[in-house]
Amino acid sequence: MKPNACESLFGREIPRRQFLSTALLGGSAAVLTATCWSPRTLAAGHTDALLLSCMDYRLVDETERYMTRRGLRNKYDHIVLAGAALGAITEKFPEWNKTFWDELGLAIDLHGIHQVLLLDHRDCGAYKQIFGEDLAKTPKKETKVHTAQLQKLRDMIKEKYPKLEVETLLMNLAGRVESV
Ligand SMILES: [Zn+2]
Repeated sequence: MKPNACESLFGREIPRRQFLSTALLGGSAAVLTATCWSPRTLAAGHTDALLLSCMDYRLVDETERYMTRRGLRNKYDHIVLAGAALGAITEKFPEWNKTFWDELGLAIDLHGIHQVLLLDHRDCGAYKQIFGEDLAKTPKKETKVHTAQLQKLRDMIKEKYPKLEVETLLMNLAGRVESV
């Protein structure tokens, strides 16, 4: 990524999320927010990928480590919806569906992403709540149910955006990821 005005103020490259959290602490940093957080800055540049993952606090570090292993550290947009793939398609939360499609469209328009990673995880509370069943007790069925949601969403994305690459992934609670 090319250095932008915000980064040059600090004299080194700072991940945008880290920068914003620093800038939002207030005080004199607020001036930097006004200087740097313009639509132009946010719209600048291209990145490779968009990640959709669940909100689950247990897997935040594991998810970042996985993206780092993939060579995508600080190179991806990130949508967080409870249930990940299920959150994007469940009829129980239509506003979540809309958010997914709106943000996918933005990631394409703003950053030219060409790859979408759909990352579900095992023992997912959103799946439990929406389907009314604790799938973690039956891992084979759990894999099957996640696979069905992931592939359904992948097919919907491919229909709307045929050029996007879409991966369907399932993480366990140890952070191990399998393609499904
Ligand atoms: Zn979850």
